[in-house]
Amino acid sequence: MQIKLTSVTNCQEINILGLSKDELLSLILDFETQPKRASMRVNQIWSWIYSHGINSFDKMTNIDKKLLSKLKKVFNISTPAIEKKEISNDGTIKYLFCLEDQSKIETVFIPEEKRSTLCISSQVGCTLNCSFCHTGTQKLVRNLSSQEIVGQVIAVYDDLELWEKKRMRSNDTSCFEIITNIVFMGMGEPLLNYEEVKKACSVLMDNKGLDFSRRRITLSTAGIVPKIKTAHEEIGCMIAISLHATENKTRDILVPINKKWNLEQLLGSLRDDVQLRNSERVTFEYVMLDRINDSKEDAHRLVRLLQGLPSKVNLIPFNTWTGSQYKRSSSDRIKAFRDIIIKSRLPSPIRRPRGEDIMAACGQLKSKSIKEKAST
Ligand code: SAH
Repeated sequence: MQIKLTSVTNCQEINILGLSKDELLSLILDFETQPKRASMRVNQIWSWIYSHGINSFDKMTNIDKKLLSKLKKVFNISTPAIEKKEISNDGTIKYLFCLEDQSKIETVFIPEEKRSTLCISSQVGCTLNCSFCHTGTQKLVRNLSSQEIVGQVIAVYDDLELWEKKRMRSNDTSCFEIITNIVFMGMGEPLLNYEEVKKACSVLMDNKGLDFSRRRITLSTAGIVPKIKTAHEEIGCMIAISLHATENKTRDILVPINKKWNLEQLLGSLRDDVQLRNSERVTFEYVMLDRINDSKEDAHRLVRLLQGLPSKVNLIPFNTWTGSQYKRSSSDRIKAFRDIIIKSRLPSPIRRPRGEDIMAACGQLKSKSIKEKAST
């Protein structure tokens, strides 16, 4: 995307948070025409924003004052506003953010023993209509911009005062006090908003800033097959596939995008097109729905489907929501299912539901404001 200053001089300021380095450079070149100096300014601004958490030009003390006063007039560095913050009994925190156009999205901070994961959204709502997913019942309003995707991360850094902790723990990747992992498992389908997600990842991964390694960012997709290989090659992050069924007739209902790209196409493409790197595995997410997809036959079929593909299966006990037609599988059925998968030597952890009491668990996100609006 080429951002031209002339196109916005009469409108409001440009939010530079979440722009790529190239985009930022093209903007700064309007003020600092000498390319080397412009590039130096970009690096300085970048470091203030993404290493120090500074969101005010006035605090960028190594930048010439005259230049700063010009920058201040046309640019801002702003994050989505926190409209509501809920803290679960288990320490999970759910944020409801209000965007500039008043759309609402949710983001979840999940502290664990040795790491903390931030689950971020890529769209307002979702178009995929997976029948077990609460977000799917909310109509899609729009894609998020890279600014709004990166903005969720920065807003949580600010709110939880993580900047200082991050600086002190820069070499420590097993720490629950800072965000160690980012997952695109909030609202929306990241591969249907590919360009903005890719740009946001380039900002999150930049080693002069937030410096998330590609192994610590996971993009979860319901199976937008043609984009999986591209994302794996271009973004380089970890890929998780929402599989949820072992037969097309069941998957067509649970994950309707299966009617466009079915199990054979999805797994075929993962086998043939995606070049996994050293020791890399594809994560398959499998929601455990009572008597729908949790039989021993399903487990055996799953093992057969994944044969020869370096995989890991995350079993997710279904998180319920009002109006849902499904029930969570009993823990006995989940364990029996897991035992079959483990016998085939596939890692198969059962995901502990987090933040259920505040509707922050997997698939429970849906911004109430939009629901209320729809019902009026
Ligand atoms: N659109 C993407 C990412 C968003 S959902 C995708 O489909 O992968 C993140 C994960 O939560 C997906 O695996 C999704 O299938 C799962 N999920 C959705 N609703 C759920 C629910 N009610 N209980 C448990 N997991 C759910």
